[in-house]
Amino acid sequence: MARHTEPVCKICRNEGKKLFLKGDRCLSPKCSATKRPYGSGQHGQNKKKLSEYAVHLREKQKVRFSYLVSEKQFSKYFKLAARKTGVTGTLLLQMLESRLDNVIAKGGLTAGRKQSRQLIRHRHFLVNGRIVDVPSYRLKAGDVISVKLNSQELIKNTIEMLTPSEGVNWLDVDKSKLKIVVNSLPEREDLDPTVKEQLIVEYYSK
Ligand code: SF4
Repeated sequence: MARHTEPVCKICRNEGKKLFLKGDRCLSPKCSATKRPYGSGQHGQNKKKLSEYAVHLREKQKVRFSYLVSEKQFSKYFKLAARKTGVTGTLLLQMLESRLDNVIAKGGLTAGRKQSRQLIRHRHFLVNGRIVDVPSYRLKAGDVISVKLNSQELIKNTIEMLTPSEGVNWLDVDKSKLKIVVNSLPEREDLDPTVKEQLIVEYYSK
C-alpha cells in the first residue's frame, strides 16, 4: 500500500484540489481544503508560478494520491496503459477506476478508498462469490461484488453512517443486498472531468 507520511488534508491543500482521502469528512464543511483553500504552511498563500515540468508532475501526483497508489504501482499502470490499443490517458484512468477498492467506495459501501482497502484486506468482500483481499484487484464488466455473510452487519452499519452519494452509471448498486454489479468499464465522460490525463502521459513520455 502506498504510505503517505504527511497528513492527508495537507496533501489536498498543497495540490489545490479535494482528493477525498478522509471519507465522509470530505463531504462536510469541516473539509480543510474547503475551509482553507490555499497551500499549507507559512507560505501556503503565496502562489508560485509552476514550471512546465512541475505542472506535469503535479497532475500525476494528484491522480496518484487520490487513488492511494505508490509511485511504483502508478508507473506500472502507465506502462500497461501505454501498451494497450487506445487512448493511453483514458486507459490509465480506466484501470485505476476499475480497482476493487475504488469500485466499493464509488458504490457507496464504504466511506472512501482508504476504508475500502482496510475492509478488503480484512476479507469482508467477495468478487463473483470468492473472497478477494487484494485492494488493487481489477474488475471487469459483469463482475459482481458482494459481502461475506458474517460481515454484512458491519458493512450495513458502515453504510448507515455515510452521507448518501450520487450513483455511478457504470455500476449497478443494490445497497439493501450489499451488492455491486459492474455493468461496463467507465468511459472517459464517466470520470473526473477536472483530471488532465494528457499531462500525465506527457510526464511519462519525457
Ligand atoms: Fe482532502 Fe478535505 Fe478530505 Fe481532507 S477532508 S482529505 S482536505 S477532501
